Formats: sequence, structure tokens, C-alpha cells
Amino acid sequence: MAELNPFKIAQAQLDEATEILGYDKGTRDLLRWPKRELVVHIPVRMDSGEVKVFEAYRVQYNDALGPTKGGLRFHPAETVDTVRALAAWMTWKTAVVDIPLGGGKGGVVCNPKEMSEGELERLARAYMRAVGHFIGPDVDVPAPDVYTTPQIMAWMADEYAVMRGYNVPGVITGKPIPVGGSLGRHDATARGGIFCVREAAVALGIDPKTATYAVQGFGNAGQYGATLYQEILGGGKLIAASDSRGGVISKAGMDPAKLVEHKLSTGKVENFGGTEPISNEDLLELDVDILFPSALENAITDKNAAKVKAKIICELANGPTTPEADKILQEKGCFVIPDFLANAGGVTVSYFEQVQNNMNFYWTIEEVYERLDKKMTDAFHAVYEMHKAKKVNMRVAAYLVAVSRVAEAMKLRGWV
Ligand code: GLU
Repeated sequence: MAELNPFKIAQAQLDEATEILGYDKGTRDLLRWPKRELVVHIPVRMDSGEVKVFEAYRVQYNDALGPTKGGLRFHPAETVDTVRALAAWMTWKTAVVDIPLGGGKGGVVCNPKEMSEGELERLARAYMRAVGHFIGPDVDVPAPDVYTTPQIMAWMADEYAVMRGYNVPGVITGKPIPVGGSLGRHDATARGGIFCVREAAVALGIDPKTATYAVQGFGNAGQYGATLYQEILGGGKLIAASDSRGGVISKAGMDPAKLVEHKLSTGKVENFGGTEPISNEDLLELDVDILFPSALENAITDKNAAKVKAKIICELANGPTTPEADKILQEKGCFVIPDFLANAGGVTVSYFEQVQNNMNFYWTIEEVYERLDKKMTDAFHAVYEMHKAKKVNMRVAAYLVAVSRVAEAMKLRGWV
């Protein structure tokens, strides 16, 4: 059984890069471990009247390039190792898009699908009270991730304001627009991924207008990935999509906007008109040009990688491909746009949000799109050039670009 612990996977990916970079042991060890980790147990009064205690984490992985930054996940299967892995990937993500931030991540072990709005608000506020003294705009800045929303960010920003006695909008990003959010943050993760697909298609000589694509995971990133593909790339055919309950397929193609409407009104993609059911597993093996794994970790493993037929994989999820699967995909000639490059659009616009909060002066949507496009396009080409120059796959190339930036800052600071 291949190793599926996300943190072990993150360390193995890093080791491959630091080996190529020829770093000394001290530098490697510092890059392999989080700088600071906080585990808290927080009491929340549930609607029933009983108090439930939730385990939660905040991991600040590396702040050589700037304050740590990264989302907060509410998920029943959250573990400290998942959060460590996600915090490591955030460190490489901010570095690869060249923004002056480090990497961090948070998680609460809970099932938001079984909680009322009131319970979620009390949990969000309690989490902020538990970690509020360890974070801040110049220290560590949370944002949305799996099952956390702009509303949850607003409650947490408000709780932080109560703790400090004044508004501090830059303490958290992904906020709703009226409380200091940025235009364009809601679909930024997917938009950045589509910009990468656009660049990859040119590099590989694929016409995205006539290409087929499938989306595994129909949450925020997956839904916007499906619609923005057609909006930005001017065509393409969405063949299949899935969520945690199941998937749908139509060889004739589906209207992504209508599928999103169906998902938002029924809570699932199943039973969308004119489609057949398909499992999450079968979707990954479909004969499509472009595959968007947009759900959780470990979707493509040594068990199914040989059967993946897509020419381009754009990883909107964090950690969807294991190292064994990476090797198989590389041998097959599949072009992977690795997670911390493909999905870096979210944190990039989060960074823009913080900049706007600091200036207290807000940009137009056109300014956000233009700056995001430049960041993503530059990052894609830095990685693509490394991939060509060093003859390594795109994931290793992304690590080489990102890790060398972090290591250079660590050296300049005198840490190693
Ligand atoms: N949770 C998102 C990610 O994994 C966004 C992080 C952020 O905006 O800080 O990249």
C-alpha cells in the first residue's frame, strides 16, 4: 500500500527537489518541518443545549518570504498531518507566484453539513478566540478552504475586531465585499487554473475551444472551473462532473452554468437533465483532453494513474496526485499543472485583498483580473521553462522554482 499520509507525501515531494538543488542538511530539515503548530480544543454550545468540544489546528509552516498565509478547512476527516501538508503546499504556492507571503493552514475537525448556521457561527467565533492571539495581518492570515465560506470569514473578522477593540480587515481574506473583501476573490482559484490551462494549451499545441474536459469535485473551485473554462477559453465541452455523492456524464456535453444552478438548488450534480450517472473513480479515467481534480487529496494514485487518459491535468485541489501516480503519469506523457501552481489564483487574490485592506482603497474587477492574469502567466512560464531546462516534470519544476525562492530568503535572513 503506497503512503497516503499527505504530510509524508509533501515531504517526499520536497526531498526530491532539495536533492536536485543540492542543499545542506540544515536547510533541508528546516524546509521539511513547520515552524510553529497550534492544537486547540474548543467548546461550542450546540442547538441542543449540550457543549461539544472540537479539535482544531493552525500550522505556520514557513515565514521566510513574509507572514504565513493559507486557508482554514472545516472537515470531519481533518488531521494535523493534513494541515501540515496543506501548510507546506501554501509555502510553495505563495513562492511560486512570487508574492511576499509564507505558508500556513488551519483546520477544524467537524462536519459542517450537519451543523446549523448558528452552530457554525459559534464555532467560527470560538476558533478565532482560540487562535486570535497567534495570528494577525503581519503574522498569519487565514482564508476560506474546503467547506468554509465568505460568511465564516466575516464572523471571524468580526470576532478578531472584538478581541482587539478595532477593525482589522487584513486579519483574514476571502471576506464578503461589504466587510473588506476583494472583487474577484470568489472565483480566483479557478480563474488562475484556467489561465494556466490557456498557457499549457499553447505550449502543447492543443486547441482548448475543441477540447473536452471533466471536473472531479464540484465545490467552489470545480464549479467556477467548469464555467470559466468556456468563458475564458471560448469553447470546450464539459463531458462529466462529480461531487462527494456521485457524478454525471453526457457525451454530447453539458451547459456548465446550468449544472452549477442544479448543484446549488439540489445540493448535488446527480439527476441533472440529459445525463447518465458516473462514479468519481470512473470520471478520473474518462477519455477527455483536460481533467480537473478539484476535490480532496489522493484522488489519483498508483491504483488508477495508468488508466487516466487526459492530456492535461489541472489540479485545482490540493494534493490530488500521489508521488507514485506522478511517475506513472510522467511515463504516459500526461502534462500535469501541479496543485500549488494551478490553484494559486485564490491566494494571489487574497494577497490583493490584503493590499487593498492596507491601502483602504479598492480596485476594480478589471484591475484584479489583469493583475491575477500576469501573476499566473508569469508563474506558469517560470515553471514551464524550468521543466524544459532541467528535463523534470512540471511538479518537480514548480518545487525547484518555489523552494529556491524560500531557501534564498532563509539564507539572507541568516537561518541557514
Ligand atoms: N485555501 C486556498 C488555498 O489552498 C486559499 C488560501 C488563501 O487565500 O490564503 O490556496
